[in-house]
Amino acid sequence: MSAISTAYQLVPPLLGASVAELTAWVKEQGQPGYRGKQLHDWIYGKGVRSLADISVFPKSWRETVTDVPIGRSSLHFRSVATDGTVKYLLKLADGEIIEAVGIPSDKRLTVCVSTQVGCPMACDFCATGKGVYKRNLSRGEIVDQVLTVQEDFQQRVSNVVFMGMGEPLLNTDNVILALKSLNQDVGIGQRSLTVSTVGIRDRIRQLAEHQLQITLAVSLHAPNQELREEIIPSAKPYPIEDLLEECQEYVDITGRRVTFEYILLARVNDLPEHALELSKRLRGFQSHVNLIPYNPIQEVDYQRPTRDRIQAFVNVLQKNNTAVSVRYSRGLEADAACGQLRTAKGNS
Ligand code: SAH
Repeated sequence: MSAISTAYQLVPPLLGASVAELTAWVKEQGQPGYRGKQLHDWIYGKGVRSLADISVFPKSWRETVTDVPIGRSSLHFRSVATDGTVKYLLKLADGEIIEAVGIPSDKRLTVCVSTQVGCPMACDFCATGKGVYKRNLSRGEIVDQVLTVQEDFQQRVSNVVFMGMGEPLLNTDNVILALKSLNQDVGIGQRSLTVSTVGIRDRIRQLAEHQLQITLAVSLHAPNQELREEIIPSAKPYPIEDLLEECQEYVDITGRRVTFEYILLARVNDLPEHALELSKRLRGFQSHVNLIPYNPIQEVDYQRPTRDRIQAFVNVLQKNNTAVSVRYSRGLEADAACGQLRTAKGNS
């Protein structure tokens, strides 16, 4: 057998496991190997929540494995914004609550997944960072969010963005396993998977070495170190020059361009000179700038710039040959937009 089937010793919950892992696991249970593929179909295709419900399995075996967890969350709360965006609060096996967001558009269904319970990065403009950080999510807990949204919409998920609660690259191993499972088990193309990070030293390189064809989005948010540190305190030990150098390595290793996210905070980082400095810094870089007008949160009094100021920022970038787009977040009034996800229910 291949190295994959022997390398992992699968310990339930089963969600996130490949056909090879599930096959090895059913064999350990004394069952024929083909039941691994059946189990895979039921977990990912039919969304089964208990092994007791897998009717193609012999009853005698089902009775012995009823307590083996598949690893599905339960729905704690659901709210729908007028634009059709749906926010889910999901309860995990240990009672922790996380958020996932389903974002429908013409042909697509995008899911925004969390990677941690809370977030320790404490970015000044982000609601998640104002709450308590608890722990990393497992690969199964990440995959579960996608299946949950897919089932609720009764529509195949086309894209997944790792932009929910948490910093994905503080949980790199599970994030990489989840990316692989979403690609191979759930069937989502690698190019339709996006990981967004504030940047953790050496982790972008680690991700690159897996040679995935996913999109890397880096939350730059400022054209220089001084301003970046002001709004992202965790950026202190990781100078912007080093971060950009690691991003360049990502481009070199994977051949994929990098997206730089840039939140627009009125009079903080939205001046034309900031745009000019950003363009200069990114000159020659295979990249794309994604501007995110600030979505208000309660704890801080940043403002979203006016449309005119946003357009002025765009104009400077374009004049200086920097590829740019503006992302107006969806789901604002369900508190489901970028930066509005938090641990507690009931702040909306
Ligand atoms: N930890 C990851 C994922 C965060 S959420 C990261 O930092 O990239 C995805 C994006 O939303 C990030 O670029 C984040 O900085 C941005 N964001 C956070 N708070 C926001 C807010 N209040 N308004 C708009 N965007 C916000």
